[in-house]
Amino acid sequence: MNKSKAIFGNAIVIRKWNLSSIFKAIRKQGPISRIELTEITGCSAGTVSNHVRTLIKKGFVIETEKGVSSGGRKPVQLMINPNKAYIFSIEIEVSQIKILMFDLELKVVMKSIIPVIYKDNYMKTLEQVFFEMDKMIEEKNLKLDNFLGIGVAVPGLIDKVKGILEFAPNLGWKNVHISRIFKDKYGLPIILDNEAKVAAIGERESIYPKINNMVFVSINEGIGCGIFINGELYRGASGNAGEFGHIIIDTNGPVCHCGNKGCWETFASESYIFNRYLKLSNSNKELTKKEVYQLGKSGDKKIIEIFNEAGRSIGIGLVNIINGLSPELVVIGGGVVEIKDYIYNEIVKILEESALSISYRSVKIKFSKLGSLAAVYGMADLIINERIKFI
Ligand SMILES: [Zn+2]
Repeated sequence: MNKSKAIFGNAIVIRKWNLSSIFKAIRKQGPISRIELTEITGCSAGTVSNHVRTLIKKGFVIETEKGVSSGGRKPVQLMINPNKAYIFSIEIEVSQIKILMFDLELKVVMKSIIPVIYKDNYMKTLEQVFFEMDKMIEEKNLKLDNFLGIGVAVPGLIDKVKGILEFAPNLGWKNVHISRIFKDKYGLPIILDNEAKVAAIGERESIYPKINNMVFVSINEGIGCGIFINGELYRGASGNAGEFGHIIIDTNGPVCHCGNKGCWETFASESYIFNRYLKLSNSNKELTKKEVYQLGKSGDKKIIEIFNEAGRSIGIGLVNIINGLSPELVVIGGGVVEIKDYIYNEIVKILEESALSISYRSVKIKFSKLGSLAAVYGMADLIINERIKFI
């Protein structure tokens, strides 16, 4: 590449980045004036003015006069036009699928949760998702042109560039061309990402925007993590960094879906809790996860002991994460947030005993505030930030 081409290339990247950060500032802080935008984004007045002009022309931003005047003329404020475009944010879980339609202000317009009935047949499962999406589009009287894009979060390893779900161990799906399947159906831009990573984005953007070094530990049927280092989501060489669920904590432990023995998630996930319950209970009645949690919460001592055991095992994995990365904040998310009162003390006990004190002193342990919606919010956020660059 010659020098002028490289400079031109950089200019395009910078333009996209500035446009995206100006839009994000309006979305998060609006109504906001152009002067405030220069202060928040660090862009020059000219850059702000140009990009705002584009955003207004394309209908993504509108002017309003809600600002507080300091005596003279009321300053013109900028805000998002929430109904200019919509986003589909979908989270495929092991037993259910969440399908949410968001507006540009990240408000939930419609929501549908469907069970995974055909776990062995991904195409049939995705057709169920399409059915729900079509219904929502029709109900809101929208057209495909009204959508900025579709985001799909999955509990597994992905090739983000090609949009392929390479392996979701707890779903049993391998090499599913998710992006192509959605593209063939809707023709819209698609982003495929890992559930724990977008949940980390969701939690940080909404609750902890100022925390730069953070690990989001998503504990559902398996365990995945999203890692923020210096304010950036760390993806690693393969794009799949954060698979702490598969760090081996006992080489003689149970066999994991990944093929190894004694991975952290075989001791500390919801699958562990559920399998342990099945083993210990003499009842033939099959209970759902919710029912097992409910029994524990209503005082079943056997189940409470399982919760405590899981808490201790969660603590052991967190010792490894905290010793290895020394984050400022660890957020525990996923289904186990339901039983936080039964696992928190056990986690803290293990951390106090075993984590390196210099790292433990600097970290806070919290439970997700967005709860089960962290991934869909994070995905919607990602779609808006990525897609707005191309308007
Ligand atoms: Zn494993």
